[in-house]
Amino acid sequence: MDRLFAASEKEIRDAYTTDVYFERTRKILNSSGSDGDVWAEFTLGSIPNKWPWAVLCGTEELLRLMEGMNVDIFGVPEGTIFRSRSPKGIRVPLMNIHGRYTEFGEMETAMLGVLCHPSGVATAAARVRCAAKDKKVMAFGNRRMHPAISGVLDRSAYIGGCDDVASKMGADIIGREAAGTVPHALMLMMGSDEAAFRAFDEIIEKSVPRIMLIDTFSDEREASINACKMIKDLKGVRLDTPSSRRGSLKEIIQEVRWELDSKGYRSVDIIASGGLDENSIRELMGSGVSGFGVGTSISNAPTLDISMDLVCKDGSSISKKGKFGGRKYTYRCPTCLSMDVSLSDKADMMCSCGTVMELIEVPLMRAGKRMHRRAPAEIREYVMAQLKQLGEL
Ligand SMILES: [Zn+2]
Repeated sequence: MDRLFAASEKEIRDAYTTDVYFERTRKILNSSGSDGDVWAEFTLGSIPNKWPWAVLCGTEELLRLMEGMNVDIFGVPEGTIFRSRSPKGIRVPLMNIHGRYTEFGEMETAMLGVLCHPSGVATAAARVRCAAKDKKVMAFGNRRMHPAISGVLDRSAYIGGCDDVASKMGADIIGREAAGTVPHALMLMMGSDEAAFRAFDEIIEKSVPRIMLIDTFSDEREASINACKMIKDLKGVRLDTPSSRRGSLKEIIQEVRWELDSKGYRSVDIIASGGLDENSIRELMGSGVSGFGVGTSISNAPTLDISMDLVCKDGSSISKKGKFGGRKYTYRCPTCLSMDVSLSDKADMMCSCGTVMELIEVPLMRAGKRMHRRAPAEIREYVMAQLKQLGEL
């Protein structure tokens, strides 16, 4: 069998996936004796889509990637909600790495890759979470991206605020059960909604919530009531109504809700899915919807253009034009979460809101040994707490 195009873990660790110019740089530095002790920082110039903030995600995988290399890494904790620049326009360091350049330089491509797209996905998920308030959100977006990154996508979506994820791999990574309803394929294969509902209820273990898809053949209202009558412990119905039949999805949901309530099925949830994003979710709020399945708008989130730049060599500040030299420390206001930057780790930084700022970088790795580990659920809680503090939730 021919191999798939996805890189294996060994190939990533061996820098087989890196941009070749880093390999050439290592050869030149080693041959010319120009290697040195450096600091490199990870920063973001601007956040895409004019979003006011972003969520840092992927630190755990970066630490797994770098474990055992002779480097020190410091950074803001994973899940930190950040703005890309300080009030004075200085790029805020999200991470600082210290060591011989040739020890880690070839890993730049992979280190950025494990941060950039996951941070975009976590940010999009956080924005969906803010739109959906306390309603349930399930991440359904794996089919829009390469399967090699399913676990990465699901972890990032969960950290950003999704409640559940659809892939078994993603669910294992975040320590939860995979969530899902039923696909249209089941209805089509069984020949009718009724046959599919009955077979699901008979065959699938009772611990799996009964959420039936009700838009395959007939009217959503009629199919919902049928599902309620057929399945004793029906948890919910899912509407994935195609856009060609939608008219107003909100009005369809309102009507289905009315029918369910009036026939005594008040506890049956309505889950909406199909091309939803933060804007369409906001429009559906208040319709009687209980939750959302969100796919492409989260998994296809814009990647964050985080870059890695050398800022110090053998104790001297260096930088390319357009960047700010020197090993920097990141501070944050505990009241309004504004960030600022200093060349000292003992700076007296005052936020414009009048609060003394705190140093928020933490040691993540020393000489290749990790100093920091947080479970996905803890990181997600940290994200939710910051969103509340910002008044977004
Ligand atoms: Zn402040």
